[in-house]
Amino acid sequence: RQQAAGGASGHLTIDLGALRDNYLALAAMAPTSQTAAVVKADAYGLGADIVSQVLFDAGCRNFFVAHIDEALALRLRLSAEARIFVLNGLQPDNETSCAAMAVTPVLNSLEQIAQWAAHAKNLGKKLPAAVQIDTGMCRLGLSPEELEVLASRPQLLDGIDIAFVMSHLACADEPDHLSNAAQLSVMRKAAVAFRDVSVCFSNSGGIFLGNDYHNSLLRPGIALYGGAPSVTRPNPMKPVVRLDVAVIQTRDVPAGSLVGYGGSFEAAGPTRLATIAAGYADGLPRSLSNRGAAWYNGVRLPIAGRVSMDSIILDISALPLGTLTQGSFVQMIGPDQTLEDIAEDAGTIAYEILTGLGRRYRRNYI
Ligand code: PLP
Repeated sequence: RQQAAGGASGHLTIDLGALRDNYLALAAMAPTSQTAAVVKADAYGLGADIVSQVLFDAGCRNFFVAHIDEALALRLRLSAEARIFVLNGLQPDNETSCAAMAVTPVLNSLEQIAQWAAHAKNLGKKLPAAVQIDTGMCRLGLSPEELEVLASRPQLLDGIDIAFVMSHLACADEPDHLSNAAQLSVMRKAAVAFRDVSVCFSNSGGIFLGNDYHNSLLRPGIALYGGAPSVTRPNPMKPVVRLDVAVIQTRDVPAGSLVGYGGSFEAAGPTRLATIAAGYADGLPRSLSNRGAAWYNGVRLPIAGRVSMDSIILDISALPLGTLTQGSFVQMIGPDQTLEDIAEDAGTIAYEILTGLGRRYRRNYI
C-alpha cells in the first residue's frame, strides 16, 4: 500500500534506474556514435536537473534544450564538461548570454550564422555552434538555398567552431515512411559541404531505423523516458513513469444519475463512483471525458462524465464493495495503462501527456 498523497494530487514516480538503462540501451545500439539527451521542456516534464545529472553520470556529455533560458538554468547545474545546445536557435540579442554562459546555439539560418560569427569576431575568439539543416521537415534550419550560399561562401563560418551539423526527421516514428530515407539522403549531401564535420541526425525513432541513421551523435528524447520510439512496433524501452492518483471520495448513486459537469454520463443502474484528486490542470486531458480510465489491480475503472480541473469521477462498480476508499490510489500510468494507452484514449501522443503532467503531484525519484 502506498503512503497517502498528503495535500498533493497523487504520486508521480520517476524510475531513474530505468532512465539510465534506457540511455545505456540506446547508446549500445550505436557503439561508434555518441549519445546525447534531449532534456527540453524540463526533460519532458520529469525534471531536467535530476534527469540530466543521472544521464551525465551514465556518460552523456551532450544535452539539448529548446530555449536559451532552459540552457542557462541547466548550465548552472551541470558540469562544464557537458555541452548544452539550444535547438530553437540564436534569438536576437541572445549571443552575449550564450557565449558568456558557454551555451551552444544551434544556428538555424544564415542570419543566425552571421550574428554568431560577428560575436566571435567581437570577442576575438572562435565560438562553438551546431548548424541545423532543413532536410524536409520545413520547421527549422537552413533552407537548400541558404546551404548553397554557404557552400559557395565558406568564409561566412569564420570564427565558428562547428560541433556538428544536424537535422530532424519528420516521420521517424513510422519506420516505413519514405521521407526517412529521403531526408537521410539530403542530410548526407549537405554534410559534404561541411567537410569532415560530425553529423547529428536521429531522434528516438531514427535510432531504430538502423545504422545508416546513427551518424556521429544520437539525439533521443522520448525513448529515454520510456515512450515508444515507433508507432507501429512494440515498445522496447523500460517504463520510467508511474502515476498514481488519490481517491478523495466515493459514493453510490441510483440509476439515472447524471454525473459531472454537463451531466454527460448517465448511470445505467445503481453505480459506485470514486472521485480522484487530479484533473486537466494536472495533465489529464479533458478529452479523456467518458473515454479514458484509471486502473486498480488489473481492473479498468472508466472515467464517468467530464474531466474537471482538479478531479475526475470514476465508475468503480466493477470492484468489490470497500476496495477503494478515501486515501486509496488508482493507477493512471503504470503497468496496466502505458503512456501510449492514455495518450490514445485522449487523442494525443505520449509526449503531450508527459510534458503536461505539471507540478502538483508528489514526485518520487526512485
Ligand atoms: N531533436 C529535435 C530537434 C527535437 O525537436 C526532438 C523532440 O521533439 C528530439 C530531437 C527528440 O525527439 P524524440 O523525443 O522523438 O526522441
